[in-house]
Amino acid sequence: ERVDGLTDTLVDGFGARLRGQLVRPGEPGYEEARTLWNGLIDRRPALVARCDGDEDVAAAVDFARENRLPLAVRGGGHGVAGHAVCDGGLVVDLSGMTAVDVDPEGRTARVQGGCTLADVDRATQRHGLAAPLGVVSATGVAGLTLSGGMGWLRRIYGLSCDNLVSATVVTAQGNVLSASASENDDLFWAIRGGGGNFGVVTSFEYRLHPVGPEVFFCNVYYPVDRAAEVLRSCERYLSEAPDQVGPLGVLGRVPEIAEFPSEAHGAPFVAVLALFPGDPADGEEALRPLREITKPICDLSGALPYVEAQTVLDEDYPDGGRYYWKSLNVPQLGDELIERLVEHAAAAPSPASTVDVWYQGGAMAQVGEEETAFANRGVPYLIGIEGNWDDEADSAANVAWVRDTFSGLRPFSGGGMYLNFPGFLEEGEQLLREGYGPNYERLAAVKAAYDPENLFRLNANIEPKKP
Ligand code: FAD
Repeated sequence: ERVDGLTDTLVDGFGARLRGQLVRPGEPGYEEARTLWNGLIDRRPALVARCDGDEDVAAAVDFARENRLPLAVRGGGHGVAGHAVCDGGLVVDLSGMTAVDVDPEGRTARVQGGCTLADVDRATQRHGLAAPLGVVSATGVAGLTLSGGMGWLRRIYGLSCDNLVSATVVTAQGNVLSASASENDDLFWAIRGGGGNFGVVTSFEYRLHPVGPEVFFCNVYYPVDRAAEVLRSCERYLSEAPDQVGPLGVLGRVPEIAEFPSEAHGAPFVAVLALFPGDPADGEEALRPLREITKPICDLSGALPYVEAQTVLDEDYPDGGRYYWKSLNVPQLGDELIERLVEHAAAAPSPASTVDVWYQGGAMAQVGEEETAFANRGVPYLIGIEGNWDDEADSAANVAWVRDTFSGLRPFSGGGMYLNFPGFLEEGEQLLREGYGPNYERLAAVKAAYDPENLFRLNANIEPKKP
């Protein structure tokens, strides 16, 4: 954990410049500060700067650059690959920066970089508004937004990054910049999909939309032998319905909890989840076709407050569990692919693992391919492969299952993936290039302009390359 050349005097001087706290190994709070949501990650940074404000973040970036320390950036700590902590370097930890400032008239919110989805939803829903975010409330807005951000509102209001109005960014040089359509517009383009490559985002300004406060949430579980019919029906439904609804198809196994009938515990299911953002009575009507595809195992749908709908999946992702995920874009949901999805889901060693179908399109696809860094917008389906398990002893089998599933499904993909769902990017640059499509070269050029030494490299890294 000690870093060569880093004297106590230097470190003490750095600590004294921070408003927040500098935490070192052995000090109170260190274990908590190095622990991430994903229990697979076990790293020991030399220093954790628990930042309180833009100046702290700038001081921490300067310190890492001047002392050539590996630099990790932590927002909500829910990055699946676990890049938010490093061994032996400095963590810029924003988890204490959680202020949310809502402008109800202007329908915008300024959100600090350490906020979780729950922090933002709680504040915006007081005004009957919401920013399009993800589907699990403990996720950080920072990582989520910087690589896209897909939730229940994606087909009506677009990705999280599509709703970004501006951001404050601390660059590799320690400068605090504003990025928007009118200021540093190349940086603004790059942070809408390009991940943590371009600097530390200390605040995000989102456009808000009227949502809730009550919504109707579809949460229905069908027997897996009807998978083709169910997944097809969702497809047909979307071709006929307006873009209000963004369903998620899930292949998994019924958990052994009281909400589900005990005779179904452990049975493989195909579930359909979706949220209707308008009046719940209209939502019940609009979502009915998704609930009547065939006879369900059980139907947990109902009207509930939007903030609660945003937590429906929370308990499936406990802190400290072990997680390894991958994803791939597919152009078509053919019979053969659906059969494979069912087979792979059935082969999962852990009953908590799932294979998911994210129905894309709608507002997501209306943004031009090169308008933001987020590419592959026209692809109608994203397949998520989630290995979720508890015990260390099961890690090898679960990681192997995800990799097997990924390579088994790869022939069905036209290329590309969602960069917020990678376990680890061990496939290297090829997948990153596919993920960014036509935007990769421009991203490398913006990277060269803002971070030529690649200080921000613990991420899905885009190497700087001058055009
Ligand atoms: P962190 O681990 O803190 O950060 C991830 C990476 O982002 C960091 O390594 C760093 O490179 C970068 N980063 C973080 N903060 C900053 C910052 N302030 N400035 C610059 N770079 C930064 N995604 C969706 O789109 N939709 C979903 O519905 C969804 N559901 C999820 C559910 C769960 C349970 C989990 C774990 C993830 C989910 N994701 C979803 C994926 C999620 O978007 C990513 O895991 C994302 O990286 C989480 O961001 P974070 O800030 O919590 O993570």
